[in-house]
Parts: sequence; C-alpha cells; structure tokens
Amino acid sequence: MSDGTGHPEDYRRLFEESPQPLLVCDAAARVVMEANEAALKMFGATREDLVGHGVIDFVDADDRAAFEEKIGMSTLENQDWGPWRFNTPDRSFDAVCQRRSVEFAGRQALIVHIQDVTLRVSHEKALGQSEQRYAAAVKGANDGIWDWDLVSDTVYYSARFCELLGYEEGDLGDSPKNWFSKVHPDDIEHLRLEIDLHLRQVTPRLKVEYRMQHRSGGYVWMLTRGVANFEEGHAVRMAGSQTDISDRKAGEERALQGTFYDRLTGLANRLLFLDRLGFLIRRAEKNGDYGFAILFIDLDRFKLLNESYGHALGDALLADVGKRLSKVIGTGDTLARLGGDEFGVILDGVTDPGACLYQAQLLLDAFSEPFIIGGDAAHLTASIGIALNDGRYGRSDDLLRDADTAMYRAKKKGRARYEVFDEQMHHEAVAFMRVEADLKRALYASEFELFYQPIIDLSDGSIAGSEALVRWNHPERGLVMPGEFIPIAEESGLIVPLGEWIMFEACRQCRHWLDQGLEPGMVSVNLSAHQLKSGKVQELVEGALSQAGLDGRRVQIELTESAVMEDPEGAIQVFRDIEKLGVSFGVDDFGTGYSSLAYLKSFRFGALKIDRSFIQDITTDAENAALVAAVIGLSHSFRAKCVGEGVETAEQLSYLRLLRCDQAQGYLFSRPVPAAVFEETLRSGVQGWHQLLF
Ligand code: C2E
Ligand code: CA
Ligand code: CA
Repeated sequence: MSDGTGHPEDYRRLFEESPQPLLVCDAAARVVMEANEAALKMFGATREDLVGHGVIDFVDADDRAAFEEKIGMSTLENQDWGPWRFNTPDRSFDAVCQRRSVEFAGRQALIVHIQDVTLRVSHEKALGQSEQRYAAAVKGANDGIWDWDLVSDTVYYSARFCELLGYEEGDLGDSPKNWFSKVHPDDIEHLRLEIDLHLRQVTPRLKVEYRMQHRSGGYVWMLTRGVANFEEGHAVRMAGSQTDISDRKAGEERALQGTFYDRLTGLANRLLFLDRLGFLIRRAEKNGDYGFAILFIDLDRFKLLNESYGHALGDALLADVGKRLSKVIGTGDTLARLGGDEFGVILDGVTDPGACLYQAQLLLDAFSEPFIIGGDAAHLTASIGIALNDGRYGRSDDLLRDADTAMYRAKKKGRARYEVFDEQMHHEAVAFMRVEADLKRALYASEFELFYQPIIDLSDGSIAGSEALVRWNHPERGLVMPGEFIPIAEESGLIVPLGEWIMFEACRQCRHWLDQGLEPGMVSVNLSAHQLKSGKVQELVEGALSQAGLDGRRVQIELTESAVMEDPEGAIQVFRDIEKLGVSFGVDDFGTGYSSLAYLKSFRFGALKIDRSFIQDITTDAENAALVAAVIGLSHSFRAKCVGEGVETAEQLSYLRLLRCDQAQGYLFSRPVPAAVFEETLRSGVQGWHQLLF
C-alpha cells in the first residue's frame, strides 16, 4: 500500500501483536468484542473465555460499582483510572485502565488499555501497613522523637521527647546542649562514645542506655536509638527515638538483687557465695601464701520448730538468726544463707585453724540467748563444719562438700558444736561414696535378699507373723547386715528403689506361702523416714499388694518412733492412706524417740514395738522394767498389740508375759532366717517355742 494507510489486516496484526494488553468493548453494553494476545495472557484466558462476556464480569465485586462509573465517563478519555482488581478463574491481578472511544465494525466501541500494576499495589499496601505500624509503634511505645541536623547543629525535639523529661513542647529549644547537659555525669562519656562510633560508621546504628535528669531533679533511664544519613561519607543528619526504660531498669535491679541475695535475710545467697568461693579459690591457686576457710552452719532441729510454729514464724526466726550471725562476722568476711536452715561463712585470708575455731565459737555463742518465736522463748543451737582451703581444692563444690561432711560429724557428736574437716573424714566420705556406688550396682544385680524373723504370740506360742529384714549378698564381702548399708541407702536416696524391691518381695513371699497352704500370719515391712518423705508410700503398697494379689491385712508397715516424730503430720497422712488398703502400722523402736502422746493418739497404730535396749535389762533395771510396763499399758489403752523386741533369755520372756505383753520377737525364738528356713518352720509347727512358754 502506497497511500500510507494500512491494510485492515495490518491493523489487525498491530492490534494482535501490541505488547499492551487491549480489549475492544461494545460502548453501550461493554461486552468484550476483541482481546489481543497480551490481554489473553494477562487474563490467563482463551479468546472464548473473554469474547462475548461483559468486562465487568472480570472486575472484583468490590470494585465493580466504581469501575462501571469510570468506564462510562468520556471525560476520562486517555487518562489512567484504577487500579482495579481483576479476577479470572486462573489468576487475579491489579491493573489501571485507559479508555478510548473508537468505531469498530460499525458500532460505537471502546478500546480499553490494561496495565498490570499488581507489584506496585502490593508494594504500596505493604508500605502503608508498615507506615501505620510504625506510627502505632511510636504512639504506643510513648517514644520521644529527635531529629538532629548535623550541618546546622540544631535538634528537633518532639513534644513527647520533652514530656519524658517533664517539659512542655518547645521548652528544650533546638540546641543539642539542652540534651547533653541533662545526661548523668557518669553516663555522658558513654553516650558520646556511642554517638561517635555510629557517626564514624563503626556501628550500623546508635543504641544506648543512659540516665537523664528529669525536670523534677531525679534521673530517668533512657534508651536512645538513632540512624544517621551520610552524604559523601559525611554524616549530615541523625534521627531516632527516645524511650523511658526506668521501669525495666528497676526490674532488672530487683532481679539482680533476687539473683544474688536471699529475700528472707537480705544476706548473700548460695549463688553469690559460690561465686565468691570460686574467686578465692583462684586467688589461692595463684598465691601460695593466701588461704581462707569456710564454715558450714546448720541449725539443729529447726524443722521441728518450723513445723510446730508454722512457716511464717519459722521464716521470721531464720531472719533473726541471720541478724545475729552477721553481728559476729568480720567486715571482710562473707555470710550467706545457703538455703533452708543452712548458712555459710567465708573467712577471707585465714590460714590458721585456731582463728577458724575462734570464729566458730563466736558463731555458736550467738545462739546462747533464746530466740523469740510466736511469743515463746526458744533455745536454738547450730552445728558447724569447718573446711580450710589448703590449696588442695580446685572446685568450690568440693570445699563446700567437705565443710558439709564436717557439719554432719558435729551433728552426730551431739549437735551445738563445731568440727573441722580432716583426713579421717575424707576417707570416710570416700568410703561412703564407694558403698553408694556399690549399692547401685547391687540393685541391678539383684544381690538383696529378705530374711524373716518370726513374731510369737505369747498367749499360745503360735506364729503371729514375721518381720522382713533385708540382707545384702555381696559377691566379695559375703552377707552384709542392714546396719552397714541402710543408712547409706537412706542418705543417698537409694532407699527408695531398694525399699520398693523390699515391699514387692515381702508381698510376693507372703502370697507364695499362702499358695503353699501355709499360715504365715502378718508380714512386717520396715519403712524408712526417707521413703515416707518420698510421698509414694500409698502407691508403693498398693502396687505391691495388687501384684501379689495379697489382702492388705497381711501386711504391717513398721516406722521407727523417731521417723514418725520427725514428720508426724506426714506420717499420719501416709497412715490414713494405707489404712484404706487394710494395711496396719507399727511403731518401731518405741522408747528411743520422744513421742508426743497427742500425736500417738491420732495414729490408730496396730502395734507398738518396745526397743531391744529396754528389754535387755528388764530383769535387772527397775526403771526400765517400769517403763516397759507403762508402754504395755499404753498400747493396750490404744487397743494396739505390744511387741517385745530382742528377747534373748527365758527370764526376759517370762517377765514380758507377766506384764501381759502380747507378742515377742528375738534370738530366743529364732534369728532372722532365709525365706526357705522360715517356710520349713511354718510347715513343721513350732513345738520348741511352745515348750518355752508352757
Ligand atoms: P529393726 O527394725 O529394729 O530390726 C530388728 C533388728 O534387731 C534386726 O537387725 C534383728 O536381727 C535384730 N534382732 C532381733 N532379735 C534380736 C535379739 O534377740 N538380739 C539382738 N541382739 N538383735 C536382735 P537387723 O536385721 O540387723 O536390722 C537392723 C535394722 O536395719 C532394723 O532394725 C531396721 O531398722 C533396718 N532394716 C532392716 N531391714 C530393713 C528393711 O527392709 N527396710 C528398712 N528400711 N530398714 C531395714
Ligand atoms: Ca523393725
Ligand atoms: Ca526395732
């Protein structure tokens, strides 16, 4: 074509191949008449999907009304309008449109340009959100804003910035001096350094905490954040926020106080004590002439007072103790509450044992005057263990452990005294740890065995039952008696798993005898104070009974009088729990502890076992004989059976019968024997014992 006007086919091609998405719509009905390739691609549709459909069908419902209005406005010719959201089955996009009126196939038509602006729209949306978020954050955090023009050296302080310091907007002028002159003298250098580091681009942003003087005179803690703008490597402007963090700082200080100091006494706590100990150990390592000592103080029988007066008064008592102890502590020394009723002292620079003993005596003397608790005067004493750091210690734990060992020795020797840790104690402690490890191994290797000692009914000489007594079949040491390992099992906590085995085994054995058609009576199982404290006694007894399929009335639990009195409330609770299972309860070693009748009354125990030490000289010691008579009377008034323990002679036996003791147990009848031997006795009857009695 030479006249310059193109052939219709050419226009068609131009339309088709235009990179700009184009639609041709009927001007009145706005039905799509044509769509070019770019438009099809944009809509993700085929020609059939579009042609013949109203444009409006593809506009998001929210935008439709506005779109209809705009597309009809001829005044918008050649202008962008939108953006609108378009939806097709396959995709959604945001686009701005332009319309142009044309004549098409003899009809009034519109060419609609469509430009995808999805990216821009989502970007703007995000920006809007983050701006809103920022505004909300500034408002919500109550931050002050500052903007420092470094070229003119003027600062804009926002109203809130001024308010945080007690001023009105504008009061601070625009000089940076009004800012820095209010900074705490101790903090100004730090603040200047941080600003300098950021301006020299050493730090990516400014973030610094410091104190500023409030108009009222006091100081407030501020957190300042900021970022500088750089032009050609020079900072020209820096702006940021200012936050009052006084509350947080106060909280941190309180937390620090709580971390290192004991709330109750205000003394250093265990953590601070150990920290200081670690420090001094390092000092002693470096300097051979330097030495120090620690004193481990444990109050005697505090638990009893705490329980009878209640924890609030107990706490007040501890605070009093702390006060008294601090009065006799030298200024360079550290006194700490290590927990519970334990206190610790570090004697700084002490190498002479004599000086330690002197200090320990001063501490003991601090207890000579009674304490007042709940209006009562209470005599309290303490036991003290001393360990000297002779350079041998590398760890504070070891030093503390040795002082603790010495303290235990002081308790054993009768309390209200001090002991110095020495080599002998060291060997014993090591031996203890060896047995502990050995016990653990033995538990897994099943080296324990229960022996049974018959308990005789004194009215007819029959077997009322037996007491299960544990033995350790040691591969090297042979048969080890409980006296050698039960205390260690108790102290190490191993008594809990061991006691579990004992309970299950005793129940299993009893069931076995019943299954053999034998009459084993009642089996007594010893329970330690530690097991009582474990809080799992009911669970344990229940489990053992049900596994053996045994009636609870076949089992009696023995607790020593002192274990009961150590925690009477706890014991009563355990007793109530196991009583429901039919299990009864015997007070062991009666006469050796200090029972309170008030407590005993609330126990409904099934048996009182008189300790062997009273039975021993029952025939020679009138005082003991009277006591035994009283205990027998006591148990009868409680409707409990009275059992004489450790009966070795016929005289002891006849005396017990005279006093109407119900049952007896002792070598006179039988030593504790292996289960098989006891089973033989059950089978053959007890002729020999009958002869003893009748
Ligand atoms: P216990 O409960 O007072 O047990 C009685 C102890 O007296 C037993 O010592 C027993 O052999 C001994 N005995 C009995 N009759 C006589 C006698 O006529 N003369 C003399 N001299 N002694 C007699 P054993 O078996 O050495 O037990 C010692 C302690 O070990 C027990 O005292 C008990 O406190 C503890 N124990 C033993 N078995 C267990 C156990 O299974 N669990 C717990 N927790 N402790 C146990
Ligand atoms: Ca016992
Ligand atoms: Ca006993």
